[in-house]
Amino acid sequence: TKAAYASVTGDDPKLLAEQAVRKIREKLAGKVTLVGAGPGDPGLITVKGLAALKEADCVIYDRLAAPGLLEATREDCEKIYVGKENHHHTLRQEEINELLVRKAMEADRVVRLKGGDVYVFGRGGEEGLYLYERGISFDVIPGISSSMAGLAYAGIPITHRGIATGFHVVTAHNRKDELADIDFMAMARGTDTLVFLMGLGKLPEIAERLIEAGMPSDTPAAVIEKATTSAQRTVTAALSEITDKTREAGIGSPALIVVGKVIGLRERLNFFENKPLFGKKLLVPKIGEQTSGLTEALTEKGAEVDELQVGRIEYADRTFDKEKLERVNWIVLTSKNGVEAFFRDLFASGLDVRSLAGARFAVIGARTADYLYQHGVKADLVPEKFTGKALAEALKNVLKQKALVWYIKAGNADSSLKEAVGGLCHFEEIVAYENMDALGEDSRIEAPERYDGVFLTCASSADRLMEALDGRIPEAWQKPGKIFSIGPKCGECLRKYGFEAIEEASESTYAGLLEVALHRIR
Ligand code: SAH
Repeated sequence: TKAAYASVTGDDPKLLAEQAVRKIREKLAGKVTLVGAGPGDPGLITVKGLAALKEADCVIYDRLAAPGLLEATREDCEKIYVGKENHHHTLRQEEINELLVRKAMEADRVVRLKGGDVYVFGRGGEEGLYLYERGISFDVIPGISSSMAGLAYAGIPITHRGIATGFHVVTAHNRKDELADIDFMAMARGTDTLVFLMGLGKLPEIAERLIEAGMPSDTPAAVIEKATTSAQRTVTAALSEITDKTREAGIGSPALIVVGKVIGLRERLNFFENKPLFGKKLLVPKIGEQTSGLTEALTEKGAEVDELQVGRIEYADRTFDKEKLERVNWIVLTSKNGVEAFFRDLFASGLDVRSLAGARFAVIGARTADYLYQHGVKADLVPEKFTGKALAEALKNVLKQKALVWYIKAGNADSSLKEAVGGLCHFEEIVAYENMDALGEDSRIEAPERYDGVFLTCASSADRLMEALDGRIPEAWQKPGKIFSIGPKCGECLRKYGFEAIEEASESTYAGLLEVALHRIR
């Protein structure tokens, strides 16, 4: 091997030492993955990028990446913010490069998360070269660049048959913060769509130079601010007027400048800004680990949703006695978590659905029924209205004297069901899980007035929301169309705290909540 080294490096001791260090690093150091985070909408990261984030031991991220993405990381993942944005901070880039190497020596999987795509003005190339030179292995997972997706979200196709046969994506800045050396003549002559990044400060010059170079002054132009987020704003005007209009609208960074006839298609292709909840920033307190189905439904309608982790499910891990279970006449379940807990316990007892042959199942609503069905059991009773009260009424009609009823519940759930039907049968409350308070140091709600709506899906979440608010209801939340409650019990709890205007779903489901949101939110 020494001879092999010598053949490559000669006998130069310095080169030999460098080679050795390189070899050692290749063996010992972790890997750095440069990941494109997409332009802002957290859903626009790639499948592969998300998988890398989930596995990372350390994530080094920028300002442009959607902050919500970091929630996908493991709890023990180290997250380092290197919010450099200004392209002329050469020294800071050096520091970031160095940090990447250092972290690769400490951790196995380092993710460098960058806004948009890693190589589109993202300096990903420089980071890759730096790693290469130091013998650190790296991967690249490309991202969706704002230079294309930002246009799409503003209803502008970057090319279109018969209108634009290509596109130019250029940075408007050079290293010295001047207008970059751009071939405006070539651009003005062609029909390609022009996209300028980092160009807001140079907008007047860009427009002037294009017109000077012969581009018609009525060529359509657009400026898109914070593309693909709920704060997206788009200004369109003729090239000669775009500067004034952008200034009047108070457009800020980050922004894309677009010039070209494809902008004319925007009226018909503007799917994003035309969504019913577009531009709304919402807060959804949630309990489970996964993204709430409600968040998904609201996002689909164009809203941007922050989730507040208020609760965490802790299972009681109990076991059932086979003989007793087989004598149960009714099993009552009032949430997905209850179903989950019940089957965990059933299997932990060494039993399965065969022990449930004699039991009938009552559930509070469609979602619980669905989840139960996924476990191989069809619900026998679902009340017409999905509330505790309606469930109690429905049960009253079917319960026989001496029936043995198990109510699978959370430890902190109230006893209203027992009070309602306990006298009619042999009613046992089985505490199968607890909904634990999961509020932490960082759960305080900052600037609550920025939320256009808050969605409560259970009373315990209302309790914890108050906790996260330090007990004070923000004034902005007392107006109609702000606070949404899934049903009467949750609404009652909110009123008790002093909320005055509560929008209540007429059907206690996520669909019901969505329905009232679409009508009432302002
Ligand atoms: N790698 C990134 C670009 C980084 S350069 C990408 O592929 O998207 C930073 C510039 O990108 C900003 O000055 C702005 O012009 C543009 N940009 C990035 N995200 C944007 C967004 N959400 N909305 C508008 N412009 C954006």
